[in-house]
Amino acid sequence: MVSRVIPVAPFDLVIFGATGDLARRKILPGLFHRFAVGQMPDAARIIGVARTDMDESAFRADVQAGLSEFVPQAAGNSEMLSRFLDRIGYVRVDATGDEGWSALRDVLRADVVRAFYLSVAPSLFGAIAARLHDHGIATAESRIVVEKPFGHDLDSARALNVDLRQSFDEHQIYRIDHYLGKETVQNLMALRFANSLWEPLWNATHVDHVQITVAESLGVEGRGEYYDRVGAMRDMVQNHLMQLLCLIAMEPPSRFTPNAVRDEKVKVIGSLEATALGDIVRGQYRARGDEKSYRDDAGNRASRTESFVAMKVNIGNWRWAGTPFYLRTGKKMRARSSEIAVVFRDPPHMIFPRMEGRRGNALIIRLQPNEGITLRNTIKEPGPGGFRLAEVNLDMTFADALDQQGDPQDAYERLIMDVFRGDQTLFMRGDEVEAAWAWADPIIAQWEEAGLTPSGYDAGSSGPEDALMLMHRDARRWREIE
Ligand code: NAP
Repeated sequence: MVSRVIPVAPFDLVIFGATGDLARRKILPGLFHRFAVGQMPDAARIIGVARTDMDESAFRADVQAGLSEFVPQAAGNSEMLSRFLDRIGYVRVDATGDEGWSALRDVLRADVVRAFYLSVAPSLFGAIAARLHDHGIATAESRIVVEKPFGHDLDSARALNVDLRQSFDEHQIYRIDHYLGKETVQNLMALRFANSLWEPLWNATHVDHVQITVAESLGVEGRGEYYDRVGAMRDMVQNHLMQLLCLIAMEPPSRFTPNAVRDEKVKVIGSLEATALGDIVRGQYRARGDEKSYRDDAGNRASRTESFVAMKVNIGNWRWAGTPFYLRTGKKMRARSSEIAVVFRDPPHMIFPRMEGRRGNALIIRLQPNEGITLRNTIKEPGPGGFRLAEVNLDMTFADALDQQGDPQDAYERLIMDVFRGDQTLFMRGDEVEAAWAWADPIIAQWEEAGLTPSGYDAGSSGPEDALMLMHRDARRWREIE
C-alpha cells in the first residue's frame, strides 16, 4: 500500500458560528468521529464562538445534545463523550464588534496550529479575518476555513478574496467544497492517475461524452428564502459540478501537491467554451400529489429561480474538443443519486448484428448512494440460439471491495483533518473560484436578459422534458436517475 500520510498537528480549532446548524450537524459530529477513531492529537482543542451569552459548561451541554442527535454512537459511549467534551471551550464574541477578541486571544496557545473555521454568513468573513489580524490572534501559521457560498458572482467572490487576503496568505486559506471530501471524488484522482489503463482512452478519440448528475430528492427544506435568491446554477453547478468536471477533464498533474492539482483544474475552467442559451435547460418543480411546488416551498408565487439545471458544456482543448460534458442537477428529483458516467465511443467497425437498446461501454463513478465504480461491457448472452449480445456491469462497491464496516468517513471530517495536516489539495484556490464565477456569470446574465421562465417538471420526476431533448437531439440519452 502506498500512502501519503501527513500527520495531524496538535491544534486549537476556533469555530465561529459554533451554535449554528452546520456546526451542530456536520463539523462537531465530524470532529467527534475523528476523536473516536483516535485521529485527534491529545493536545487538540475546540473553541466555540458565537454571540450567544453562555459559559463553557452550557456550550458543552449544547454540543452533547447535538451529538446525541447526530451521532448515535456518542450517546452510547459516555466515557468517550466526556473525554471529547473536555476539549471544548467557548468564548462569546460578536464578529462585528470589538469585544471578546482579547478573551479569545488569551485562551489560544502559542505552540499549536491555530485554525479558524468560519461557519457563519459570508458577509461576516471579512470582519472576522480583519479582527483576527488586528487583535493579534492570527499568526503566520494560522489557517482560516471558509464555507460555501464563496460569493454570488465574480465581483463578490473577488471582494471576499481581497478581504481574506488582507489578513491571510493564500496558503492559509481553505475554501471548502465538501464534494471534494467525498471518498469517490478523491478516488477519481486515484483511478485516473494511479492506473495506466484509462489514460490512453481518456480523450475525445475514445470518449463520446461525459454525463455528470447530482440529483437530490429533497426540495428546498426551509432554506427557501435563501435558495430563491441563489438557484441551482449558483448553488450547485458553479461549485460542486464544476469540481467534478475538473477532476474528470484535467491533465495529469506533474505531482500530487495542492498547487500542481489546482493549477490543472484552473486550466480546465479556463478552457470552457461559452455556453449558448440553447444548450441550457432551467427547470422548476411543480406540485405533484402531496408534494408542494417549488414556488410554494420558496414562498414566492412569482419565482423564476431554477431548482434544476441541465446543460451541455464544451471544453475547448486538445484532449476534449468534440466530447461534450452534460451536466444535470436538481431538487425534488425521483431519487437522491450522484454519478459521473464516462461514455465511450462504439467500436469503429461492428461485426455483430445491431443490438437493440445498446448503450455502449461506460465507466460509471457513483458518488451516492453506494459509492463505487461500474464498468459497462458488452458480452455474448450466454446460452444457445445464436450469437446475441448483452450488456453487463462489472460492479465494485467500495464498501464491499474494501471490506469496510460502518459509516464511511464523512466528507467534512476528511476536509477538517486536512486543515490540521496543512494539505490544501482538496480545497479551492482563490483563482479557481474566480474562474468558475467568470464562466457562470455570463450564463446567468444571458438568461436574466432573456427573461426566461424555467420549464416545469413534476416533483419526483427526472426533470423537464427539455432536458431529455438536450441529449436526444445529439442522439444520446441520460442515464436513469435511480
Ligand atoms: P446558522 O444556523 O444561521 O448559524 C449561524 C451561526 O453564526 C450561529 O452560531 C450564530 O450564533 C453565529 N453568528 C451569527 N452572527 C454572528 C456574529 N455577528 N458574531 C458571531 N457569531 C455570529 O447558519 P449555518 O446553517 O450553520 O451556516 C453557516 C455557514 O455555513 C453559512 O455560510 C452557510 O451558507 C454555510 N453552509 C451551511 C450549510 C448547512 O448545511 N447548514 C451547508 C453548506 C454551507 P449566534 O446567533 O449565537 O451569534
